[in-house]
This record gives sequence, C-alpha cells and structure tokens, in this order.
Amino acid sequence: MNIHEYQAKELLAAHGVTVPPGEVCDTPQAAKSIAERLFAKGDKVVVVKSQIHAGGRGKGTFKSGFQGGVKLCKSPDEVFEKASAMLGNVLVTKQTGLEGRLVRKILVAGAPPIKKEFYLAVLLDRASARPLMMVSTEGGMDIEEVAATHPEKIVKETIDPAIGMMPYQARKLARALGLTGDLISAGAKLLLGVYTTWWECDASMVEINPLCIVEALGGKEALVAVDAKIGLDDNAIYRHPDIQVMRDLGEEAPLEIEASKFNLNYIKLDGNIACLVNGAGLAMATMDIIQHFGGRPANFLDVGGGASKEQVTAAFRIILSDPNVKGILVNIFGGIMDCNVIATGIVAAVRETSLKLPLVVRLEGNNVKAGKATLAESGLTITSGESMADAAQRIVKLVS
Ligand code: GDP
Ligand code: MG
Repeated sequence: MNIHEYQAKELLAAHGVTVPPGEVCDTPQAAKSIAERLFAKGDKVVVVKSQIHAGGRGKGTFKSGFQGGVKLCKSPDEVFEKASAMLGNVLVTKQTGLEGRLVRKILVAGAPPIKKEFYLAVLLDRASARPLMMVSTEGGMDIEEVAATHPEKIVKETIDPAIGMMPYQARKLARALGLTGDLISAGAKLLLGVYTTWWECDASMVEINPLCIVEALGGKEALVAVDAKIGLDDNAIYRHPDIQVMRDLGEEAPLEIEASKFNLNYIKLDGNIACLVNGAGLAMATMDIIQHFGGRPANFLDVGGGASKEQVTAAFRIILSDPNVKGILVNIFGGIMDCNVIATGIVAAVRETSLKLPLVVRLEGNNVKAGKATLAESGLTITSGESMADAAQRIVKLVS
C-alpha cells in the first residue's frame, strides 16, 4: 500500500524526523488560511504541493497546461492562486503515465531556503536479505540516473535487523553526506528516526528525496525531510489500524479495489490477453510466455493457492470489465488447488458473463481429470491447452 507525502511525513514526524511544518487541505480557501498562519509564524516562502501517489510532481504538467505540481509562493494570495490551479486538475508526471492523476488534496508547508539536497532511502535488500539504508549527495535527482552514471555517489549501509541500526552506522552515513559540526549528530539522529519509521511501520520502502539542509528561522542550519514517500507491506498492514485508514481509494485503480475485495491479486496492464493464474510465480511466467509467442498480457491475476468458485467468477467479471481484453488464458497448476473447483468456477463464470471471447484453459495437477471432464461436459466453447506453451500459442493465435 502507498500513502501520500503528507501522511508519510506524519509517520516520520511521529518517529522524531524533522519535517517542514504544514497542513493538508482540499480547497484554495483553506490553503490560503494555512499559508496565512505559516507567514504569521515567520515563514518567508510557503510551498504548495499536489498530493498524488506518484513522484516527479515538481517537473510535472497539468492537463490544463499549468506547469509544476510543486510551487513556491510568497504570499497567501499566491497560495490561493496556485492551489486553484492544482485542485481538481489532472497532473501528468514521469511516473503517472499519460492519463495523469487527479489532484484532490494539496499540502501547504513552510519552505525555508534550501542550501543542499540529499537522497535517502531505506529498503529491503534482497541480496543480503537485510534492511539497507542508502544515501547520496545527489539529492532531488532521479536516483536511477545517479545509480547508472555515478554509482560511487551512492553510499550504502546494511543493517542487522536483530539489533537495528547502530548509532555508528548513522554517523558514518551522515559523514558520507559531508555533514559537519552540529549537523553530524542532527543527521545521525534523523537517519535513526527514518530507520525506526521503516521498521515500526512495516514499510517496504521509505524514501526521502530530497533531504535538505535548510536555513531555518533565525538563520541556523537544520536538516529536514522536504519530500517523503513510504510504501507499506500489505501483508503486515493488519498490524497497523492507524496506517490502514490512510489508504486512499481514489489513488487506486477501480478494478484493483474490486479485486482486493475478493482477495485476488490483480494488476491491469495494457495488452489484450487476460490471464487467470494461481500463484504469483506462475502468473509472471504466464505473462512471459504470452509475450514470448508474440501476444500482450492484459493483466496480472493471481487467484491464490486455494481459490473458490466465487473468486473465479469474480476474477472473470473483473477481467471482462477491461474493454481491451480480446481473449482469456487460464493457466492453473493444481497443488493445493483442486482443478475441478477451478473448472466448475470457469463454467459458472462463462455462463454468468455470457462469454463471447476466446477462452483457452490449461489445467494440470490435483484432480485434473475431473476438471477436464467438467469443462468438456459443459458444452461450452473452451479450448484446451495441453501445456503452458501450447495454451499460450493457442490464445495468441485466437486473438490475432
Ligand atoms: P517530487 O517532484 O514529486 O519529487 O516533489 P518534491 O517534494 O521532491 O519537490 C520537487 C522539488 O521542489 C524539490 O527537489 C525541491 O527542490 C523543491 N521543493 C519542494 N519542497 C520544497 C520546500 O519546502 N522548500 C523549497 N525551497 N523547495 C522545495
Ligand atoms: Mg521528490
């Protein structure tokens, strides 16, 4: 699950990470009032930030033609004006795809002058199977680009999950960022807070880009998280009711929400061959083999290890509500799954949805004979695939 920047900043602040003071709102009038309070407290500049689940907002463009989803303002009236240009409009960034995202909320925050921008992230490193914190002096930029052109500018520290991040590790990274004087201990404290946030929230990723040295009120230098992104592990979300309520359904694809109600793992893609598969690995392999034979998958859909007839029917309904779908490939390897349960589900779903599109089914494993018999006796037009490759070739041919 992903959350908005303002929510990520709430979680970080709760773990001792300094973030610029600000509030979220959904009308230009409210934005202006927040700005008035910030200016009254001494801020000279206030930033208005579109809240969408995608990065690259600063360099994004609204469909209205308005440039930039992050804007610095010098007066409450300017905040009102920028907020009006953002709210209710669709922002297109490098990460949103061409369709963009509707901006429903904005964060209005104090924007002290930035002296330096850094990159900071915590994630799970698959190679070491441990948490990893990485920092770079090249903040505010695309980190993928830094990794490709200047890998030496990314400094990494692997963390032992049993003991957590050690203060010496935090200090080492603070020095790698070139921090000096008081900022070393402030930086180390901030890094430890970021790690604690990652750990305590069961996050899969915390990214702060940029982490900044700013000139705080009174002229002192301070270190603050100017942007924040947190991805959470869905398998652990049940442990965090306070984070669960941060879910924003407006940011999720309607079909994916419907799928999650039935415990189906569905991700829409842009091809025309729908896949219904049990198990994530097999689902990936199925998409690969469709591609291999010249087709394009319309989705990833994992019905899980022990799908019921109801789930299969729901899966068909979801698949078919995508108008791009021109054919369906069902690829089931019955381990725990009983092939006959799937077959019964398929027959019911085909009848219920009056399916007209080509359907290829490959069943293998537990109770496969009974499953195949159910399909054959249904009298429906269902093409049987003998192997995964055979099934993929058949569906590619049928939709072309
Ligand atoms: P992103 O484009 O979606 O990653 O959004 P960011 O929050 O990272 O904003 C993009 C850029 O806008 C940052 O790299 C900063 O240079 C600038 N920016 C964002 N917030 C502030 C702020 O509070 N103060 C100042 N001075 N600049 C900001
Ligand atoms: Mg950013």
